[in-house]
Amino acid sequence: MQMSYDIEAIRADFPILSRKIYDRYPLVYLDNAATTQKPRQVVEAMVNEYYNANANVHRGVHFLSQRATDLHEESREAVRRFLGARSASEIVFTRGTTESINLIASCFGDESMEDGDEVILSEMEHHSNIVPWQLLQRRKDIRLRPIPIDERGELRMDVFETMFTPKTKLVSVTHVSNVLGTLNPVAEIIRIAHSHGVPVLVDGAQSSPHLPVNVREMDCDFFALSGHKVYGPTGIGVLYGKEEWLDRLPPYMGGGEMIKSVSFERTTFSDLPYKFEAGTPDYIASTGLAAALRYVSSIGMEAIRQYEQSLTQYAVECLSEIKGLRIFGKPREREAVLSFQVGGIHHLDMGTLLDRLGIAVRTGHHCAEPLMRRLGVEGTCRASFALYNTREEVDRLADAIRRVQEMFA
Ligand code: PMP
Repeated sequence: MQMSYDIEAIRADFPILSRKIYDRYPLVYLDNAATTQKPRQVVEAMVNEYYNANANVHRGVHFLSQRATDLHEESREAVRRFLGARSASEIVFTRGTTESINLIASCFGDESMEDGDEVILSEMEHHSNIVPWQLLQRRKDIRLRPIPIDERGELRMDVFETMFTPKTKLVSVTHVSNVLGTLNPVAEIIRIAHSHGVPVLVDGAQSSPHLPVNVREMDCDFFALSGHKVYGPTGIGVLYGKEEWLDRLPPYMGGGEMIKSVSFERTTFSDLPYKFEAGTPDYIASTGLAAALRYVSSIGMEAIRQYEQSLTQYAVECLSEIKGLRIFGKPREREAVLSFQVGGIHHLDMGTLLDRLGIAVRTGHHCAEPLMRRLGVEGTCRASFALYNTREEVDRLADAIRRVQEMFA
């Protein structure tokens, strides 16, 4: 079924998209994997709460506190629906994917890992799914074992299947690579891991904005996402965890909100999900995140996926026609991310000159230095797309790359 939406109406929801860069060029924003722009609906929901319902949540008997609490818990329910989780108590609000993964590395590491145990990651992980495990290594002598990738930029599933040992305690992999755009076969990964009795954490930072996610169908044990990458505000993210797992894990941070009772001798902790939410939560951001999820759901994640797939395919074709341009990876299933390099032009020069023409791309290692080493480069240029990008913008990117090439010729 062909689905589509009114792209001009969508773009009108995002005020920033109509601004000019350097007072001259209409903005072409292709840095969506780093963060997405925000529709009015998200900003207005947050402003409205500040103006009409601001009070600290969960502790107040008064009207405003109850209103703010209701909004916050309705937002949790909106996230539950978006992810297809069984219960809202499986939805923990965090500051983002990074904090969600740190929480698991710390709490799962403390509860379920011993010296000599192993975590399976992959060569295409973002630093936020590498470094938290290295921090755990300061407390426990654990091993990180990366799944290699092949020439297409896909995970070597044949190797993955052979990596399990009695010491394997967790598989923690990205759903979509923020560099190559590869969509990893997480359902298959989870099936294999579970057949060895090993739970799986899925880093959903780059999948949640682009495709329908259902944590129950996927059967992952943990799933992390960042609000700001899915058209929501900064400062809020989600950790989904199966209830049986979250119940087993110890708290992450201590403080208000996460306790049942405190004395100097003994403290008991709140039920899920509050056990993991110490301190005043960002209840304004949770309202913004819920508005963002309502926004994308009203368009439909399947429609967004189809639109972006067609746009990304178009971008691959346009950029492949440019002489000397190399696209990194050729995954059979690619989400809305393209990393490239043009001849001998340094990625930083390319990015800087594209910016002078109004085009925002990202340059550098994209917080994936081990992957850069695997690809044999120091960095790349990366164009990443969102539901509001257009073919005209892809054309402008291709034209601008050619112009930069001419400057270097
Ligand atoms: N994982 C992946 C795959 C990412 O692309 C990113 C953001 N670039 C992160 C994790 C970290 O997200 P955040 O900075 O929002 O915590």
